[in-house]
Amino acid sequence: MRREELQHALGEVRAVYSELAKRPVVRNCVARTECCQFQFTGLTPQLTQGEALVAAKGFRATGRKELPASAAGDCPLLQRETGKCLIYADRPFGCRTHFCAAAGGPYSRKEVLDLIRRLEEVDRKLGGDGPRKIQAAIAAALDEIR
Ligand code: SF4
Repeated sequence: MRREELQHALGEVRAVYSELAKRPVVRNCVARTECCQFQFTGLTPQLTQGEALVAAKGFRATGRKELPASAAGDCPLLQRETGKCLIYADRPFGCRTHFCAAAGGPYSRKEVLDLIRRLEEVDRKLGGDGPRKIQAAIAAALDEIR
């Protein structure tokens, strides 16, 4: 991947996240972290390639090289001791729009469809083939930015 291509993808994904943060869709995360324990939700976040690159950059910025092993069904980026996300500022779109019932429930697709389309466009430009499960997507992105 060319440097300019990477920078453009990172910039566009971060712009989507900023736009999402301005939307008046109020939720109140109560930090139960159940949404980061996929065995409870039955849902694993799916990332487009641009989201994975942003997450991989955030992960590398913590000084780590490889994704940590996680307890079965947990997101590898969840720190069990603290209940915190290792890459919170760079967390994927799904982690920003999926809220448990206690926090107000997930955003509806139609509320954020324009932003999803923008992420899909970044994916297309990068030659991606659609969203992949978080572990595989970030592992591939870490290889890409190595
Ligand atoms: S990336 Fe962070 S917010 Fe998203 S599921 Fe993993 S630990 Fe939770």
